[in-house]
Amino acid sequence: MDQAPAERLQALLARIRAAEQQYGRTPGAVRLLAVSKTQPASAITALAAAGQHCFGENYLNEALDKRAALAHLDLEWHFIGPIQANKTRGIAEHFAWAHSVDRLKIAERLSAQRPASLPPLNICLQVNIDREPTKHGLDVSEVATVARAVATLPGLHLRGLMAIPAPASDFAAQRAPLARLRELWQRLNEAGLALDTLSMGMSDDLDAAIAEGATLVRIGTALFGPRA
Ligand SMILES: *Cc1c(COP(=O)(O)O)cnc(C)c1O
Repeated sequence: MDQAPAERLQALLARIRAAEQQYGRTPGAVRLLAVSKTQPASAITALAAAGQHCFGENYLNEALDKRAALAHLDLEWHFIGPIQANKTRGIAEHFAWAHSVDRLKIAERLSAQRPASLPPLNICLQVNIDREPTKHGLDVSEVATVARAVATLPGLHLRGLMAIPAPASDFAAQRAPLARLRELWQRLNEAGLALDTLSMGMSDDLDAAIAEGATLVRIGTALFGPRA
């Protein structure tokens, strides 16, 4: 990719707006999270200068280094990688969102460790929507119980659900698991949970995710180019 970062960002935003229109979504309903894992701080600076505000990181130490280097910028940091118990304090202290919470114990630690000086940490529960044995995420059958428990934790604000479906190249096959995540999210809302976020859609299934109701798409490769 030899386009400048600002051009890549504008092209991606145009693609998101076009998909919103094509699938009958409210204009502006889909937020872009720029997934900057493995990308240098300079790449984040370039996108921030082009107007991007929200960045997603997977690895805590890498993220904290970049956050410190970019402390002069007003950015919103989202943690999207697997969360081990020994990482919860760093996430609770330095992030606005965590999308990859898949155990109540992790949520309890994040809540207890969230500094009182900060607003509650925004949380998405990660769902193993394709029931892949090797994948992180709650089983669909446990989501409602965990969601109700997380919603009561004072240091957290439960915002929604997140998933990483099994790769599928065909558009209809991409849509199927995303539709199941949306239906689960709708059922939780009907049960009174007031969730406003469906975190789904990556570079390869962005359009399918917008068609199925994503409110936040997590995009790395289509924005920064391939990772090393
Ligand atoms: C890396 C990553 C992404 C971005 O993936 P791309 O295919 O590069 O867009 C999104 N979500 C999660 C959880 C990731 O780990």
